[in-house]
Amino acid sequence: NADTALYHAKEQGRNNYQFYSVEMNEKASSRLRVEHGLRQALEHQEFFLAYQPLYSLIDGRVTGCEALIRWKHEGKLMPPAEFIPLAEEVGLINGIGDWVLHEACRQGAYWREAGVGIPCIAVNVSGAQFKESLLATVTRALEKTGFPGENLVLELTETALMLDTTKTERILLTLQKMGVRVALDDFGTGYSSLAYLKRFPIDKLKIDRAFIDGLPHDSDDKAITASILDVSRHLGLETVAEGVETQEQAAYLTAHGCDVAQGYFYSYPLSPDELETVISKSNVI
Ligand code: C2E
Ligand code: MG
Ligand code: MG
Ligand code: MG
Repeated sequence: NADTALYHAKEQGRNNYQFYSVEMNEKASSRLRVEHGLRQALEHQEFFLAYQPLYSLIDGRVTGCEALIRWKHEGKLMPPAEFIPLAEEVGLINGIGDWVLHEACRQGAYWREAGVGIPCIAVNVSGAQFKESLLATVTRALEKTGFPGENLVLELTETALMLDTTKTERILLTLQKMGVRVALDDFGTGYSSLAYLKRFPIDKLKIDRAFIDGLPHDSDDKAITASILDVSRHLGLETVAEGVETQEQAAYLTAHGCDVAQGYFYSYPLSPDELETVISKSNVI
């Protein structure tokens, strides 16, 4: 009857409410735990870098690699997509970002000394790191490790560049003077203003995985990818396709003039030792 229905509705409502609030508490406390863990992670040396090789679509050689941060937290690997935004929010990204830059440059300098031919290393720079002080951090990392600026690529997002365009221009021009190259990461997912490509000294575009996904069948992905490749070629930029997972995607990209590909089809992110092995096999003359 109607009364019972009402009773159930109320009961359900209360249960839902309790469930909801328990979940909220769990979320908040796990967030606090992660935040606490992040604060100690540098000191406890819990971060390390994985390196994903980038392949030339022209000759198949490894042209470089992207350094990707890894964090072993409470015995498990936590994906950067989960902890980097939190690190940005709680003001820990600068310390982490400094560590990533130094570690990637240290590894790169070691590879050069050991005669491992890795032309360049790309390092992700978060929006919150993209400010004047980044220049000092990069300078220090290069000086301390002896890694040449010409071999360093910084991956920035469109969102980071658009905040203060005058400042952005100044920072990018200084990086250019240092020989450091700049890639626009996840291109096409942010504020993709073509005017920025004209105004700022940018060297590479990385087409976001979202558009590579549907190749070579999805007509929207095809149109978007082909257009980006076209604009990029006319502006003299190097184009890198992210998230290439199949032979067909690689073939489409090669046919449309993409320069470089990165993705599980070629290789997963690797340990430094594994990357050395891949390079010694791929870059034989
Ligand atoms: P991103 O810079 O766009 O890096 C590419 C991501 O795609 C990496 O995820 C990589 O493992 C993944 N990936 C590569 N090939 C494939 C593929 O074929 N299929 C699929 N599904 N995925 C592929 P990861 O390492 O989990 O990093 C995620 C994001 O976290 C990065 O995206 C970047 O935005 C951020 N990140 C990673 N390392 C750092 C870092 O050191 N500093 C900062 N600020 N951000 C970082
Ligand atoms: Mg990247
Ligand atoms: Mg990317
Ligand atoms: Mg991406």
